[in-house]
Amino acid sequence: MTSTSSTDLIPHIERGLADLRDLVALQSVSAQGRMLPETAAHVTRLLEAEGFTVRSYPGEVAPVLVAEAGEGSATLLIYNHYDVQPEDPLELWDSPPFELTERDGRLYGRGASDDKGELASRLAAVRAVRERHEGRLPLRVRWLIEGEEEVGSPSLERFIAEHADELRADGCWWEFGGISPEGRPVASLGLKGVMGVELRCRVAASDLHSSLGAVIDNPLYRLARAVASLRDETGRVTIPGFHDDVREPSDADRAAIARIPGDGQPVRDTYGVTRPLATGSAYHERANLMPVVNVNGWGGGYQGEGSKTVLPAHGFVKLDFRLVPDQDPARILEVLRAHLDAQGLEDIEIVELEAHQKPARADAGHPFVRACIEAAGEAHGAEPIVHPSSAASGPMHPFTYHLGVPCVALGIGNVGGRVHAPNENIVREHFEKGVAFGVALLERLARE
Ligand SMILES: [Zn+2]
Repeated sequence: MTSTSSTDLIPHIERGLADLRDLVALQSVSAQGRMLPETAAHVTRLLEAEGFTVRSYPGEVAPVLVAEAGEGSATLLIYNHYDVQPEDPLELWDSPPFELTERDGRLYGRGASDDKGELASRLAAVRAVRERHEGRLPLRVRWLIEGEEEVGSPSLERFIAEHADELRADGCWWEFGGISPEGRPVASLGLKGVMGVELRCRVAASDLHSSLGAVIDNPLYRLARAVASLRDETGRVTIPGFHDDVREPSDADRAAIARIPGDGQPVRDTYGVTRPLATGSAYHERANLMPVVNVNGWGGGYQGEGSKTVLPAHGFVKLDFRLVPDQDPARILEVLRAHLDAQGLEDIEIVELEAHQKPARADAGHPFVRACIEAAGEAHGAEPIVHPSSAASGPMHPFTYHLGVPCVALGIGNVGGRVHAPNENIVREHFEKGVAFGVALLERLARE
């Protein structure tokens, strides 16, 4: 009953790939509002065929689905999305984006990885577990599937807050995950927060002759002073109060980071990096745990050929902050304001650019996390690589905050998966391993 040997999974893998082909054919591009209700209806039929009760709720862009099936002492929440990124530029695809196409052990198509491949492999695992248990699931599975993830999940936080009772669980299986080039499953237990900010400075109603620089201040110089004061040469943020709410990592978190292989050399090679801030053991420590400020771009004044003796009237700098638990974007804006004021830069305006995402991280020692890691090791036959936090961001905070669940990202993505780009793909063998992992996880949670 609890074996995860792959031979009995073969029909479920084949059926899962057929599901994936049908899902990829549905052009559910949320940015363009294409085929979202149709795809939601198709996903609903797939879930109902596996014994799920499915409720559909209107979202700002696309229906939000909540499905539930099974009984037992354990409850697993699964989070996925059925929308995809636009397929263009079309001419860079080697096969039609909405036809799942196999070449050299890989399956190509928009959504093959993000996120329909994840969805289809998990559904295949549910089917396999049901078959082993005479048509019933030995644990409760709650499945939240939205259609707005690729446009920033505008309905998600409020939806989770309002439907917390329908979604409560022992833990959440996050929508994505990866497999390393060496075939090791890569788990992420958290995501950094992100906040985009623009600093704006204006000293006059219109541009002036630069001879007036002796008597009138320069907005780009004031912005340069502001930017230079935000961090030191090591990359550490120097805004007073910025680190006050940073949560100390646990011993389990530190142990997991120490076991992450490599020190970022592939990233430095891929991009021809000339000024790394951290190598060696500091690389993963920083990528997982360190909050940062980035300067994304700078505008104002003359940017054309040759020179123009102008004193610009105004300028701007675009920044993003990558935050870690338990930093709060609203509090970061306060300390940034106080920091600029303290330097006599009161006239620099701070504008938050778009909706921020708050950081979230589960403890590497949490029992649900341990169950996920053990199931991944069993299914892949390789020791999982555990990142306490991905360096990237996403809508994980509403889950940890409103539902109190740890979230674990484990899935079937690969480093050459070209997610969001032409020729998005998964490795077929990773799909098979993904099904085996799903079976191992459900069986393990049902037993514990
Ligand atoms: Zn995506």
